[in-house]
Amino acid sequence: MADETTHPWSLTTRLVHEGERAATPGPLPTATPIYTSATYTYTSAAELDACFERGEGYVYARYGNPTVAAFERAMAAAEGGVDAVAYGSGMAALHAAILAAGTPRGETSPRVERVLAARDIYGATTGLLQGFFADQGAQVEYVDMCDLAAVDAAILTTNPQVVVIEQISNPLLKVVDVAALAARAKSAGARLVVDSTMTTPIVQQPLRLGADLVVHSATKYIGGHGDVTGGVVVARAPLLAATLRRHAKLLGAVLGPHEAFALLRGLKTLALRVRQQCANAARVAEWLNDQPSVSRVIYPGLASHPQHELATTQFGGLFGAMVTLELRAGDRAAAWALLDGLKLILPATSLGDIYTLASVPAMSSHRDLGPDQRHERGIGEAMVRLSIGIEDAADIIADLRGALAAV
Ligand SMILES: *Cc1c(COP(=O)(O)O)cnc(C)c1O
Repeated sequence: MADETTHPWSLTTRLVHEGERAATPGPLPTATPIYTSATYTYTSAAELDACFERGEGYVYARYGNPTVAAFERAMAAAEGGVDAVAYGSGMAALHAAILAAGTPRGETSPRVERVLAARDIYGATTGLLQGFFADQGAQVEYVDMCDLAAVDAAILTTNPQVVVIEQISNPLLKVVDVAALAARAKSAGARLVVDSTMTTPIVQQPLRLGADLVVHSATKYIGGHGDVTGGVVVARAPLLAATLRRHAKLLGAVLGPHEAFALLRGLKTLALRVRQQCANAARVAEWLNDQPSVSRVIYPGLASHPQHELATTQFGGLFGAMVTLELRAGDRAAAWALLDGLKLILPATSLGDIYTLASVPAMSSHRDLGPDQRHERGIGEAMVRLSIGIEDAADIIADLRGALAAV
């Protein structure tokens, strides 16, 4: 408490200040505390002035927060980047990444004019590119990123500043050659943004293959427990990192300290969870492959997957933890019957949780496409996407066996 000798403070005032601003404890806490403080006070005006001048140290929560910074440092290390900036959601992170990638070198403001994106990119990302960037005048083109000849042609016609990809697509789990795409983006003078939400740094670290920015919806595997919403962008080089930081300070879509704490905790078990989830997914995919009521199983770890070889060399032995299946019955009623027959697996739209989740893309993520466009993209009405959790694989399989019997 401050000096009270000349004028004793009233209870009203004391209740506002008592107990606050104790010296930080001498022994170092092993876990990063949740710093909720919106602002910071300094022992002298000169010290505060120096902080503003250098742009270092904590002054105000939107500029930086110690709990958020701890999560950002951990993410930068996980992806092999120079720095990371955390956001309030995956979409805020994608928006920030596209803005930063679309900021010309030597300039501070974004000018997103030409974007080339994967045709089967996450639905909300298409929404962002169309309903936001394209509506403001950007030229946004889409291409099948698995077809490198088509990518070459699209680069020639679009001359993109920004290329946006995902290593494993949803729900068809197409795998793209990140190193080949990074080389193409680079020679075209474009920046490569990789949404690595489905893949995680445990399966692949795109910055090491030449990507410029890696984006995560931390809501998924990074948090991992289905109880946090957040996003993060990791930059390979200082210029884009500084641009992200400057934009974040201005646009303010920053992550909160409670979420940062939960995400930092999530990261500690990311490797354990993802390895278990990938191993479970491989077992589930193999089992499903033998079921007569299932006409098709899509999993990059199966030899039947069109990019199985690429996935094998590129992902170093892991194949992700998403498994997509198509029911032989072929209609929507069959997919609904499967969902309704599950006892352990949760019908839910998200992915990356410790729980195994099942979703029907035609009903949820790809609902807005309509039946014709879904058909064109190869997304059937009886397609079910599984995000495999950390339960015992035998229990996941037993649940699927029971539910398939009811289809
Ligand atoms: C969920 C998801 C997003 C969006 O993340 P939010 O945290 O929901 O904003 C972006 N990309 C992919 C691949 C996702 O799965």
